[in-house]
Amino acid sequence: MSIPNQNVDLPILKEKGVTLHIKREDTIHPFISGNKYRKLKYNLIEAKKLGYGTLLTFGGAFSNHIAAAAYAGNTSGIKTIGVVRGEELAEQWQENPTLQLAKEHGMHFHFVSRSTYRKKNTIGFLNDLKESFGECYILPEGGTNELAVKGCEEILTSEDAQFDIVSCCVGTGGTLAGLINSAQSHQTVLGFPALKGDFLKEDILKFVQNENWNLISDYHFGGYAKVDERLIEFINAFKKETEIPLDPIYTGKMLFGILDMIKKGVFEQGTRILAIHTGGLQGIEGMNLVLKKKNLPLLDL
Ligand SMILES: *Cc1c(COP(=O)(O)O)cnc(C)c1O
Repeated sequence: MSIPNQNVDLPILKEKGVTLHIKREDTIHPFISGNKYRKLKYNLIEAKKLGYGTLLTFGGAFSNHIAAAAYAGNTSGIKTIGVVRGEELAEQWQENPTLQLAKEHGMHFHFVSRSTYRKKNTIGFLNDLKESFGECYILPEGGTNELAVKGCEEILTSEDAQFDIVSCCVGTGGTLAGLINSAQSHQTVLGFPALKGDFLKEDILKFVQNENWNLISDYHFGGYAKVDERLIEFINAFKKETEIPLDPIYTGKMLFGILDMIKKGVFEQGTRILAIHTGGLQGIEGMNLVLKKKNLPLLDL
């Protein structure tokens, strides 16, 4: 599936002599949007091939991956179990739009404390899960593994060779790894982490050989799912001007970063930039509930 690139027309781009296109992977599907479709594709094929009836995976309360896995499992005839961070959600998940959506598509939840969740990659914890739920196809947090990276290698097409810069936002780095593997040698791939931490680079190196990439760590806005008024106003203004909706956790931060770098003159005249819109729009509703509680402005729907 190859997704069209949309040209962005903003005064700052003309002024600086650069072009910006956005690959609208968010339009793949309302629930399995963008990179989650890419990451699940070969994993579901593999789970079926190996004869598993259940897929077990991990995520937080706003996880696009949890929502996508539930939906994709349901349509492929595979049961899904979500190991969700936060014991308190066992009482409150009905108030969370992402978890509601996952439940509607048949996901069974297993809520665990934050300290237990941190053990999600240990053999001991995985064995406990197998004891409780039987043999399952286990997909790590964010859905990142070799097969997920393989799926993300299909985002770029041969026409995208015209771009100098390819950018995407980074959670676990699986999507970025796929882009790095499929980018041309004259292209530079820029990843914008949506969270703090130095572990990402090593995680990404597990999946890639090419060296034409970089992490831009200045635009996480304080960490995963942290937002401020400046970011919300940016996302609302960007939507008004371009009609492209952005999510507050990933794509909003990346586009804020790219436009800020353009303003600061980081890219030379003539640079052609392709930003990957990885989706995540299902998370807006949940974020608005959080913003309302904090008396912050809301994201326009
Ligand atoms: C999950 C997600 C990401 C992060 O993808 P990784 O492969 O984990 O880095 C980026 N954007 C959106 C919208 C996502 O849902």
